[in-house]
Amino acid sequence: MSPVDPHSFTDSSEPFSTHIALNLFLDFSSSTIIGSALISLPTSYSGNLTLDSRAISISAVIDPDSLSPLPFAISSSADPIKGSPITIALSSHSSVLIVFSTSPSSSALQWLSPAQTSSGSHPFVYTQCQSIHARSVFPCQDTPAARIRYSARINLPLPLSAVMSASKLARRDPIAGEGSPGVPDSLWCSKDRIVECFSMDQPIPPYLFALAAGEISGRDLGPRTRVYAEGGPEVLDAAAREFSGVEEMVRVGEALFGPYEWERFDVLVLPPSFPYGGMENPRMVFLTPTVIKGDATGAQVVIHELAHSWTGNLITNKTNEDFWLNEVNFFPFFLYLTIT
Ligand SMILES: [Zn+2]
Repeated sequence: MSPVDPHSFTDSSEPFSTHIALNLFLDFSSSTIIGSALISLPTSYSGNLTLDSRAISISAVIDPDSLSPLPFAISSSADPIKGSPITIALSSHSSVLIVFSTSPSSSALQWLSPAQTSSGSHPFVYTQCQSIHARSVFPCQDTPAARIRYSARINLPLPLSAVMSASKLARRDPIAGEGSPGVPDSLWCSKDRIVECFSMDQPIPPYLFALAAGEISGRDLGPRTRVYAEGGPEVLDAAAREFSGVEEMVRVGEALFGPYEWERFDVLVLPPSFPYGGMENPRMVFLTPTVIKGDATGAQVVIHELAHSWTGNLITNKTNEDFWLNEVNFFPFFLYLTIT
């Protein structure tokens, strides 16, 4: 075994996964996600596949073609930083289906009661996967050396909605048989649930996986920019004023650094507990509401996150040890000087 990354169990002798199809049932009452992950490999492969996990319960590992169980092992003694490796024995397989559930102690998932939100009327959940927390949402090769495309069906209670670092394809009623094998149709299709479908067609390191769900509303800022906010019309109004220059920022960024490759640059204003100023999730930057200052100066944080669209999201540090490469560069400085 030869590790790819000091903070991951990913093995350099094994293939990188190329796509993960997720079915995620959000259970706000237990602060958990019951889900499945269909992990695709570039070619048929025989041998061990080692994935990262932390505080995740695996209920089954399945051959998606025959639906027969596959042998797997998960370490009983978790590394305090890296978590527990999952080792799956594959024999001429190009994909594997893992059925799992997250823990309320997931280091990536922040579950908020209605009282902890800005609006105070509905629960909320969001992810923060940088740097090694994606493995506590779904099993994966949790190193930036791995680049994955993903799709997701998110099953959530009405009237909530979701956003992701991905393109939203649909909001529709649940369909029997489409859910995770760990979720019966009676639960997946209950009449108080809705399904939202997403696709991320550009390969990203796992730390850029992002999901938020709650009472979220949005308003266009320009042809490829929109602001979303939790907290009702007052927060959305203030956010739209603060970030009214975002479309122009993207144009300036393109003039300096080349084409903007992620199609959309939307921003989400989270509830106050978000522990960072901003997080550069592609297509959907996450922001703390404290950047809404009333005089548009909060947009400086957006400049920094936008600069990551080139340095960090397009060109990424290879291992979790070198995130400083993403942050110590002059792109935000040039962009800031040009805009202000
Ligand atoms: Zn940054």
